[in-house]
Amino acid sequence: MSGATMTDAGTRATAPAAGGKPLLQVRNLVKHFPIRGGLLSRVVDKVHAVDGVSFELAAGETLGLVGESGCGKSTTGRCILRLIEPTSGEVVFDGRPVTGAGKEALRAFAREMQIIFQDPYASLNPRMTVGAIIGEALTIHKLTRTPAEYNDRIVELLETVGLSADHARRYPHEFSGGQRQRIGIARALAVKPRLVICDEAVSALDVSIQAQVINLLEDLQQQLGLTYVFIAHDLSVVEHTSDRVAVMYLGRIVEIATAHALYSEPRHPYTEALLSAVPIPDPSIKRQRIMLQGDVPSPIHPPSGCHFHTRCPIAEKGLCDVKTPVLQDVGAGHAVACHLRS
Ligand code: SF4
Repeated sequence: MSGATMTDAGTRATAPAAGGKPLLQVRNLVKHFPIRGGLLSRVVDKVHAVDGVSFELAAGETLGLVGESGCGKSTTGRCILRLIEPTSGEVVFDGRPVTGAGKEALRAFAREMQIIFQDPYASLNPRMTVGAIIGEALTIHKLTRTPAEYNDRIVELLETVGLSADHARRYPHEFSGGQRQRIGIARALAVKPRLVICDEAVSALDVSIQAQVINLLEDLQQQLGLTYVFIAHDLSVVEHTSDRVAVMYLGRIVEIATAHALYSEPRHPYTEALLSAVPIPDPSIKRQRIMLQGDVPSPIHPPSGCHFHTRCPIAEKGLCDVKTPVLQDVGAGHAVACHLRS
């Protein structure tokens, strides 16, 4: 697997590291959620969920999108698929604009881009059999011609994710968390997508089950040539799954690099703090834990300048609280948004 491409906080996004045509281009994506109040329910404020995110991703690559809860990573994933309407910015899939696409075009995109949700308990309809859940997309997109073909395809999908034909007749509550996530994966694969957004897809699972599901996703990528955006709040989860990793803080990408470069030479103080919390299996290696002060500020009124300045251990007054740092390439596609580290 090779890397996803570097991005910036504004509109620039470099070509894929592999030199190929990008499968996915996200340019200056913004999502603000209005907050309404008063008797007339007027817009009184807004949540700056995504604040100018840009990146590119080549076919077959995996980009890890990481950050604390509320940093905008899941909203970014949903805006890419137009499950949520972006406020502004552009999403282009295989050279075709997703933003601005009409109903018919969006339906076609739904066959090429799928999402696997975090909560396998909530995302499966408890009143439908597993076969019906997986088969729904086959019916909607008219992907099978006869009942026999429909049934065969469901069995094939179940077996692809390590389940069996018998499971088609059962209901979601009869399965464990890991099995339910496999059902979610089978449902996403039913339309033979090219891009899959894994939105905290393993976060709700026990560590040992997480590893099994991650292995399955990696095997599927090999077999089917899938491209992934792997969203997680934990850097340790994306380390081995991603070619490149983008770290988000309060709606912005603050650092993006190959997984190796990000883990071995983090540049942004926020990435350093996140990494310092990741346990190292080798007890001879000691890493000093960096404790950040305070909580993540509200995305309703994010801090001026660098959003991270209120918690940054090396922030410079008069610079970091005034000027917004731009994501800049510091070499080999490693980009950082920090006045002092780029
Ligand atoms: Fe810290 Fe300033 Fe860099 Fe932001 S720009 S990460 S506040 S040093």
